[in-house]
Amino acid sequence: MKIVQLYNLRWHIGRRMEYQPAFIVPCVNGFENRTRNTGGQVTVAKNVATGLSRELTPMQQTPRRAPIRVITLTVFLAVFVSASTASAQQKTFLKEHYVLGPIRVFYTNEGKDAVPLDDVDRTAVPDRIEDIAKQVWAARYLFCEVLKFPDPLGGERYRKVNCIQVSVRDLGGGNGVAYDESQRARLIPEGKPTDRAIVMSINCKLNPIENITPAHETFHLVQYGATYFKNSWFLEGMTRWSEHALAREGLGHVKYSPTGPWPQELQHFQQLSKMKYDAEHMLWNAIARRTDRDGLLRDKLLGEKLTSLRYSDGTHVLRDRTLQGAEVMREIVIELGKLDDVAFEELKYDRWSEVNQRAEGNNSYIYKAVMDVFRRRVPSVGAYEVPVVKRPMDHGT
Ligand SMILES: [Zn+2]
Repeated sequence: MKIVQLYNLRWHIGRRMEYQPAFIVPCVNGFENRTRNTGGQVTVAKNVATGLSRELTPMQQTPRRAPIRVITLTVFLAVFVSASTASAQQKTFLKEHYVLGPIRVFYTNEGKDAVPLDDVDRTAVPDRIEDIAKQVWAARYLFCEVLKFPDPLGGERYRKVNCIQVSVRDLGGGNGVAYDESQRARLIPEGKPTDRAIVMSINCKLNPIENITPAHETFHLVQYGATYFKNSWFLEGMTRWSEHALAREGLGHVKYSPTGPWPQELQHFQQLSKMKYDAEHMLWNAIARRTDRDGLLRDKLLGEKLTSLRYSDGTHVLRDRTLQGAEVMREIVIELGKLDDVAFEELKYDRWSEVNQRAEGNNSYIYKAVMDVFRRRVPSVGAYEVPVVKRPMDHGT
């Protein structure tokens, strides 16, 4: 019997049809099939709630974020899984790779994980792989280099991380998933043994020319680098907002009046805190519209590298030049990195366990960060303080 750690898996449920733009298809997260760096046995974690399994590598660890914190793994629960179960769940080794700046894509041309072999530009790399790499590269470049969101690469949490590894394989019904634990990078001729990576997996059947999942997962990495909070109304809601950056579309639905009242009534906040993807309409899009009427990203700001980048079919990776609310969202992400320290102290966490990262008690702290930043831009936004309530200590497990 082996002890392995259970990770909480995020699922992407289908986007509501009334919002669904033509460019984006429903995003369903699958489990990661992480390619291991070296030989050795693959262990498998099983999520009790979902019954899903995925590989874990021996290199997963969480770098220290702040001195007050106890170093923690993103662990939900320790479970026992038999060696026989583990071997049955082993995944294909992805022997091919492609590098685009800090993006390293691993894939295979054979078996059930194979990508389509079309290679219009005759680079000997399948177009599908180049297209996935381009979307991830463009999303990180746009958010971190152009819009100055905190860059997860080399940032406070991922200080020694210098690349994003993307495993492309068959994820069943899932489109993609991003993980918040860094790991030693897989050794490739272009890299160094000391390289470290943050990772995501993308379904080999997904066409990034028609699907924004690689950018969605990239934005999760930005969030993970900035804050430990992973409550879904923030994690998924804001990421849905971020999809508008590369996609050809406006802001999408706004289902709460941008003029408020802000903060929202208690019943609205309670409703919001239970939401996932749809929190985009209830909060994030409303704030984006209120703080940024224009949302135009000028070519000079974007730069030639990004505006000229094209997929294998000749279309631009950056579909249009609009994204409302980039500045306020960047400030909120940065503020959340401060408020999670406050929550850590006040909620008496001993570590950022997976349970604590998603704990209900975080909601008020996240909301306070959002309202405090919002008020800097819209002074009429009222005060919001974290309610003083006696909370049971949540140590996580
Ligand atoms: Zn997501």
